[in-house]
Amino acid sequence: MEPKRTTVRDLRRHNRSTLLTKLYFDGPLSRHELSGATGLSAATVSNVTGELVEDRLVVEAGLVESDGGRPRVLLRVDPGYAHVIGIDLGETGVKVELFDLAMNRLAAVDNPLPASHPDPAAVVAEIATGLDEVISTAEVDPGSVLGVGIGVPGIVEQGPTVLVHAQTIGWDSVPLVDLLRTAGTDLPLFVDNGAKTLGQAEMWFGAGRGARHAVIALIGSGVGAAVITDGASYRGATSSAGEWGHTTISYGGRACRCGALGCLEAYVGAEGVLDRYRRGRGGRVAEQDEQSGLDALITAAGRSKAAAKVLEETAGYLGSGIANLINLFNPERIVLGGWAGLKLGAHLLPEIRRATLAHALREPYSQTSIELCQLGPDAVAVGAATLPVAALLEQGADFRPRRRAA
Ligand SMILES: [Zn+2]
Repeated sequence: MEPKRTTVRDLRRHNRSTLLTKLYFDGPLSRHELSGATGLSAATVSNVTGELVEDRLVVEAGLVESDGGRPRVLLRVDPGYAHVIGIDLGETGVKVELFDLAMNRLAAVDNPLPASHPDPAAVVAEIATGLDEVISTAEVDPGSVLGVGIGVPGIVEQGPTVLVHAQTIGWDSVPLVDLLRTAGTDLPLFVDNGAKTLGQAEMWFGAGRGARHAVIALIGSGVGAAVITDGASYRGATSSAGEWGHTTISYGGRACRCGALGCLEAYVGAEGVLDRYRRGRGGRVAEQDEQSGLDALITAAGRSKAAAKVLEETAGYLGSGIANLINLFNPERIVLGGWAGLKLGAHLLPEIRRATLAHALREPYSQTSIELCQLGPDAVAVGAATLPVAALLEQGADFRPRRRAA
């Protein structure tokens, strides 16, 4: 293998990325503060921020007093430089949301999936319509859209052709990006697993901020996780790492949608929880969508022993699953999210913590906290929208929208 040579161009790009990232997360900051925070010289900071201001990616944001000297100019990333779109392709619906660079939500649409095992072409058509809808609702120039991120319920194989393997909705090697291109979408597209986009959203703006080692768990119909080690998402050899929902919690146990027996998802995913309730003694839920079904179960737990028992066991299964994460990864923080994770967590967090303690090693348990996501049930879409932002922070003005937003 050729040794990697660092060129002047690489160095400039690295410096630009460092300063842009610092300004994005911690701005407004003065050039003096930027130099102190990044270790870059005053001359480098002055040169690079000059370029960023020229590109209009960074703007001045007032003045701050300095000790005795002249007031210093504050700089920040311009939220209006470009727009980004995040899509949550979930197991029950497709959310499409448009944001400015500061992640202010400017438009959103939410449509149910056409079927539980939807034809990829039908989903692609729904995504394409959603893109047009948010762009026209927010009244933005399509050329100002920097990119579109899509969080999907399955494994994403990155490569010349991006392939989605989402066994639980019946997708096997679906070339999602190619299909969207054929449907006429010409915006830059980024695809990742939904639990990983949720993880990035919570790490950037929510309950994960400041942690270096964390696990962000996504519980909806299905179950997944983003494992963050030393600040980066752990991906494994082909990016499928984090399929926590399909770790075995009970040998020979309940049938999972993946075809195996005893997966965690078959016990704590919304579909699994409701099915356990239905099959249990006296458990009845009217035929309705999973979200209202889970609400009904939680409400029923106040008066029905069967419902209360299902929830108590759910906390137990979830606690043992979380204990496995703690014993394997030694995280500082475990964050529970996804629409079902938020509903269950709001009612069962103390029970979940107790069950975790009962199954985890004491030392790593004492080093971790178990919290709820802060960005709510839309966090997968927010996280998906951060994918093009991450490309911008990495590449600086080399990755730019076709037209700057007005
Ligand atoms: Zn499974």
